[in-house]
Amino acid sequence: MNDSEQGTKKIILFISESKMVSDEIHTLLADKYSFYFTDKLDAGEALLELHYDKISVILLDSMLAAEKGTSFISWVTDEPRFMFIPIILVASGIPMNEEINCLSLGAVDIIVSPFHKKLTELRIENAIRLKDSASFYEIARMLRALPSNIYLKDADCRYIFATHYWNHLNNGDGTDWTIRGKTDIDIRKNKENAISAMEADKEIMRTGKGVCYIIEESNDNIQEFFEVIKEPVWDKNNRICGIVGLINNVTEHEKLRNKLKFAADTDGLTGLLNRRKIQSKIENSFRIMKDGGAPVSVIMLDIDDFKRVNDNYGHKEGDRVIRALADVLRDRKAIGVREYFAGRWGGEEFMILLINTELSEAERTAEKIRVSFSNTDLSPLPPQTISLGVTQAKISDTEISLYTRVDAALYDAKESGKNMVVTVY
Ligand code: GH3
Ligand code: MG
Ligand code: MG
Repeated sequence: MNDSEQGTKKIILFISESKMVSDEIHTLLADKYSFYFTDKLDAGEALLELHYDKISVILLDSMLAAEKGTSFISWVTDEPRFMFIPIILVASGIPMNEEINCLSLGAVDIIVSPFHKKLTELRIENAIRLKDSASFYEIARMLRALPSNIYLKDADCRYIFATHYWNHLNNGDGTDWTIRGKTDIDIRKNKENAISAMEADKEIMRTGKGVCYIIEESNDNIQEFFEVIKEPVWDKNNRICGIVGLINNVTEHEKLRNKLKFAADTDGLTGLLNRRKIQSKIENSFRIMKDGGAPVSVIMLDIDDFKRVNDNYGHKEGDRVIRALADVLRDRKAIGVREYFAGRWGGEEFMILLINTELSEAERTAEKIRVSFSNTDLSPLPPQTISLGVTQAKISDTEISLYTRVDAALYDAKESGKNMVVTVY
């Protein structure tokens, strides 16, 4: 179905001083086109200013063009709002050098009297189509000024164009290389990301829903992050005919975000999880355990007589001892439990979460930690010791009762002479 059958006729701006020519063209084309007529160039300019979004083509009388139309043609072809509207000269006799002049300024064609209906229609349609495809490239050229990569894919997920070829593409910098017709698998170095991109595309084609996600690309030792926004493109018949995408390099944002996230979860002195984070991890696993998940145990530990370290050797040395303990808690091999998290609870007090661990194994782990720290060389300071409380979370526990019980176990260890593990059932 063409536009006129849909009831939306394309609009011609016709500028001609000759009533005869305008009447003749109007009679020929009235079934397919609507018209704005004027016999003056400045009125034509005014009409264009007002209706440029509706006008498909400008027919300009060659007599007018020859007299003073050249500046009008330059004005239309140079102005971004109008540059996509083709100008066709309508001639009932034009000196050849004027034809050359007008065409060289950007008029796209000349229709010469006697006017033939079919021929005139075809010349107008061709002019519109050529300008449309030219505008596509013009727009692509303008979009290249943006740092984003903007691209279009067809219904088979093949690229139609992309404004940038980034370095995560194969061959992207070759001068005669074109992305047209290629798929992500064809062009991307990271095949895993290419496959997920194509899967995301197929999902968009299937559901009609756009997506937004961040991918990581690491090539030549450069780690980059890209935000990908993709939306389906619909045709006039409400079918998805492709995908339009926008990719932004968000490496700086993403690195900063990761840094902030790390800082928000991490204790500054030791690099272990901070209290808020270890607490949230304990509470999560506790909830999962209650829902029938794996058993959870916790160990709370505290350096013995630490005030003396600070008093005798200074705060800085005290810090060094705290960091040495954190190194022991980080040493997965020494601790020997598969899934555990260690966090600083406060001062020189730490909490360890052991997932999928029953009390007896937690107790053995606590003992390993105790021995490992007491054997840690802290010279010039003498070796130090820690006391540890251990317990396993019960279905009947609340978070508070769990913390209270492990704290009581630690208190017992202190009361019973320190440098020991106390387990509470
Ligand atoms: P106990 O064996 O009963 O645990 O005795 P303690 O001396 O270790 O007593 P407590 O645990 O109550 O005291 C901890 C001390 O640790 C008090 C505080 O000045 C010190 N402290 C807390 N945080 C830090 C820190 O970040 N760095 C240093 N150097 N000292 C800290
Ligand atoms: Mg202490
Ligand atoms: Mg303490």
